[in-house]
Amino acid sequence: MITLKKDCIFCKIINKEINSEIIFEDEKIIVFKDIYPRAPIHWLIVPKKHIETHMQLTDEDKEIMGHLHLVTKKVAEQNNINHYKLIMNCGYEAGQRVFHIHLHLLSGNIFGEA
Ligand code: AMP
Ligand code: ZN
Repeated sequence: MITLKKDCIFCKIINKEINSEIIFEDEKIIVFKDIYPRAPIHWLIVPKKHIETHMQLTDEDKEIMGHLHLVTKKVAEQNNINHYKLIMNCGYEAGQRVFHIHLHLLSGNIFGEA
């Protein structure tokens, strides 16, 4: 079951009340483009369940968080992205501004020489 929170911007995206450029979606996860990209590819991988932040994860979320990582791997693979950086800001002081847990996927020519 999906838990949507009324005043949450990502819940509104999940619920299609706000438009976004969706890359992938299944019953548990949505992947869409970040509206202010900080890299040539900057996507957000978001569970449809409204979990506010990493610190609120419980044992119940094991499956969804595992699925989140596997979806990330698959969408990267399907889009020929063979190197990427994953970031999760956990808490306001760490830079989190949207309190619906999400992973940033960044890729493109942003990492200098390998
Ligand atoms: P964070 O600072 O880790 O909470 O990341 C929130 C991210 O959501 C930022 O990179 C924003 O640019 C992005 N964002 C905010 N509103 C939207 C939106 N309507 N559509 C897509 N991305 C958004
Ligand atoms: Zn939400």
